[in-house]
Amino acid sequence: MSGRITVLRLGHRPLRDKRITTHVCLVARAFGADEVVLTERDDALERNIRGVVKRFGGDFALRIDPRSHKRILADFPGMVAHLTMYGEPYAAAVPRLRDARDLLVVVGAEKVPGDLYDLADVNLAVGNQPHSEVAALAVLLHALRPEALSKPVQGELRIEPAARGKVVKPGAP
Ligand code: SAM
Repeated sequence: MSGRITVLRLGHRPLRDKRITTHVCLVARAFGADEVVLTERDDALERNIRGVVKRFGGDFALRIDPRSHKRILADFPGMVAHLTMYGEPYAAAVPRLRDARDLLVVVGAEKVPGDLYDLADVNLAVGNQPHSEVAALAVLLHALRPEALSKPVQGELRIEPAARGKVVKPGAP
């Protein structure tokens, strides 16, 4: 899809969710989202993600928006897709999402606010079993931007695919 993909990570608790939220950001970047929005500031996490972007490149942004989810969703100019195990099968919605100019993908942490199910344009499930926001996000993004995983990005470092070992080269100037 050609519009912007923003991921809204709701309910990040800096002490408990540091690792999972970091993985949400890393997956969002690697699988082709344009930015992640957190509603809570977390300096260590921001430093970590900005470091990855600096070393490995890309236009990916991490933004803090302390407003309520209601305000963020109300002001979003495109389509809002909430990932939840209670939703409709995601695959059927992919063509509609691809047509959206901009897309906001919402993922939760422990429990999302109940009104989110009504505020979202679509509630989408990646299978109707409980698993993880990281997995659900990866699957949806891969359906929307399959090219992202093999697209070259410009950074300080570049990993060269290798059958064995680690081959890391300087990124192209
Ligand atoms: N029990 C929590 C609830 O009812 O909101 C869900 C916790 S789950 C660990 C955290 C997030 O993972 C959810 O908010 C949702 O975004 C995502 N998730 C988990 N399973 C999913 C599934 N099967 N399909 C889509 N998203 C899923």
